[in-house]
Parts: sequence; C-alpha cells; structure tokens
Amino acid sequence: MSDIQPAGNTGLAAEFQAMLSNVRERDVNTMSLKLANMILRHAILLGASDIHFDPKHETTILRFRIDGLLKDQLTYPKNTLPIVAALRVAAGFPPKAAVAYTPEDGRFEFIIDGRSVQFRVSSFPSILGDKLVLRLLDLHKTAPSLGHLGFSAPQLAQINKITRQPSGLFIVSGMTGCGKSTTLNCILGELSRPELNIMTLEDPVEYVLPRVTHAQINYRAGFGFAEGLRCILRQDPNIILLGEIRDAETAETAIRAALTGHLLLSTVHAPSSVGVIHRLKCMNVEPFLLASSLLGVMSQRLVRLLCPACSEAAGPDPDFIKGLETVRDPAQSHRALSLLKQQGGNFRKAKGCPACGMTGYKGRTVVSELLPIGDTLRSVISGKETDIVELKKAAEKSGMQPLLCDALDKAAQGLTSLEEVSRVVSES
Ligand SMILES: [Zn+2]
Repeated sequence: MSDIQPAGNTGLAAEFQAMLSNVRERDVNTMSLKLANMILRHAILLGASDIHFDPKHETTILRFRIDGLLKDQLTYPKNTLPIVAALRVAAGFPPKAAVAYTPEDGRFEFIIDGRSVQFRVSSFPSILGDKLVLRLLDLHKTAPSLGHLGFSAPQLAQINKITRQPSGLFIVSGMTGCGKSTTLNCILGELSRPELNIMTLEDPVEYVLPRVTHAQINYRAGFGFAEGLRCILRQDPNIILLGEIRDAETAETAIRAALTGHLLLSTVHAPSSVGVIHRLKCMNVEPFLLASSLLGVMSQRLVRLLCPACSEAAGPDPDFIKGLETVRDPAQSHRALSLLKQQGGNFRKAKGCPACGMTGYKGRTVVSELLPIGDTLRSVISGKETDIVELKKAAEKSGMQPLLCDALDKAAQGLTSLEEVSRVVSES
C-alpha cells in the first residue's frame, strides 16, 4: 500500500508498512485489528498519554501525545484500513449507522507483557468521519514519589507541612494534563497509613494506591463530584481527594468537609494560585468559611526536560528577556529579570538526536508556585469583596516564589530551555 506516509523517525511507521507487505491477510478487518494492536503497543512503549485518529478526506492521521505534545506518527488510507472501526468494536460501541453519527465513550483493556492497560475511548462525529481519541490508563503503574516530581526542597517542605494538617483544604491548579492528579496521588501515597481512611473521587482514576479507596465519577449514573463527596462523607474518611471543584455545590460541600475534621485535596481550574482563590470566591462560597478552611494553594505546569544526550549551551536569549519585560504582571517580571541577570546560570537549548526522537527533549518536570495561607491572606480572603490586586499583593508579601521564577531556576540549572519556559508559562 503506497499511500502510507510515515511522519519523522518512527519505528511504528516501519512496522506498519512491514506488516502490510509481509502478512498475507486477506480479511481487512483482521488486518486492521492486528494494526490496531500494534499501534496500542507502540503507544504504551513510547509512554504516550493519548492516541488520536484524525479523519481526513481519504486518509487518517495517527498522532500520539508524548510529554504533553501531539506528534504525527503516520498517515494511512482510511477506507482500506478500518482501524478506527476495529477500535470502536473493542470499546463496545454500537455498530455505526450510515448517516446518524453519535459521540460515544467507552473503555477496553489491553494486555501487554502480561500486564493490563486500560484505554478510555472517545469518538466524536466529525464531518469526515469519527475522530477517535484513546487515553491510556495504566492502573498497575506505581505513583512516583513526591520527591521525584521536580519540586524544590523548600516547596516540598511546605507541601509536607500543609498536608500533615488533620483538616483543611489544599488546592492544586493548572491546565488539563499539567500533572495535578499525579501530584495529588503522590501526596496521598506519602500520607497513607493503616490508621487513616483515604478515599478519592476522580475523573479518570489514574493510579491505584495501596490503602486508598479510589472511585471514578459517572455523570450518567448521577455520581458527580458533589453527590460522590456526600457519599464519601458517610464512609468515615480522614483524607479525601476530590478530582475537581467546578461548581458552587461541590465547593460548599468540600469546604464544609474541610471544616469538620477532614483533610481535603482537590483541584480548581485557574491560571495561578491567586486565581484559585478568586475562582472559589466567584463560586459564592462564604468568604469567612473559605478563609478558615484553606490551608494552601499551588499552581503547577510541566516543562519538558532537555535531552541530556544532545542539549547545547546557550546564554539567555535577548528576545526572551524582551518578552519578559512585557509580562503583564510587573512584579513577577521584575523578579524574573533579576533572576536571569544575577545567575551565571548554565542555560542550555534543545537540539535533537535519535535518543530523543529528534525533539531535543526527554521527560518532564514540575514547575510550580505554592501559596500557604497565612493570617494576612486569611483576612484578605474573608473580606466580602474579591479584590484580585489585593490578593496578589498579599501573596507577594507572603514570599511566594512565582511560577515563572521557579521555571527560570530550572532553566538556569540547564534542566529545560528558555523556549520551553516561555511556551509553558504563557499557557493559561
Ligand atoms: Zn537528544
């Protein structure tokens, strides 16, 4: 089949092509199933988090999300190779009607080297056919230790201090895919002891920790975050991980739980630590209840680590410094600039080699800002009116190291590049 186009240096494209030319498989459905299995295996081995099948007029583009970024793997003729159809069957989707497409979601299990990997499958009816996205959920993988995620020593000490409190609310914020769930699960792993009842409500569950009861929310069955949390509260919990607070009802239940002797860890969608407080206040929670329950707020992102085999020395780029001067938050850019100028840092840039798939990067690390809630902030939060400027000032006074500065610190250590810092910090 000549219209298979490999994208870059992928062993997948070569194996795909070889399978098509060597295997004398007459039945296209059997062939498609074999190819689908091969794609899943490659995705797992490459450490992809998601697999995308994008339908075009004649072809399908296959992409993997690796280290947070989508990367083309290959393009194949969609009509002669119904791989998407084979995966729809695996996910238990109903046979597709000729005209009326409907979105579907499902799951299936895939066994690789005797180990089970779950795939959460979502289909979306585009005008050119089903777009299929598969999320890999390896529930047998062990959570890394909190100390290995990339938090600085002072941040780790603060996280430990906050999460050793018997009750209260600790929130982590950041974009989808910024590693919030991993951080929270790692914290649970560290807190876990036989005398504690630890329960979670997640969407999706990504880790299964010993001595932790994990639950998956299911909106269709009416088991959302607010309802699930009420169920957990009848289960005599000590520590609760609530996947997300996104509405007033969940926020209120979470705060009440935190004020009645439970340690509650959760996430809120907001661009910064101060943004989390602002967002929670916008959910109409009682300001003094929020102020008395909140222990700390952290905002995090993941930056790609430079490939140690090929990164090159490079001083801070003048364009980057110019960009920093236009950062909207003057206090943050001032601190960042002085950091860049002070340090005779080991700044490096990405190059690309076979070891990193020519991307110049391999693996990721956390960059974050952690805001412990002290008395000054508590009094600002308990005010009726939400003043984000006042919140920012109070956060600054508390000595919070802004996320940008933490990221620049990592660039100065040669762990990541300034390009990557700029890409990730500008996301919000
Ligand atoms: Zn490399």
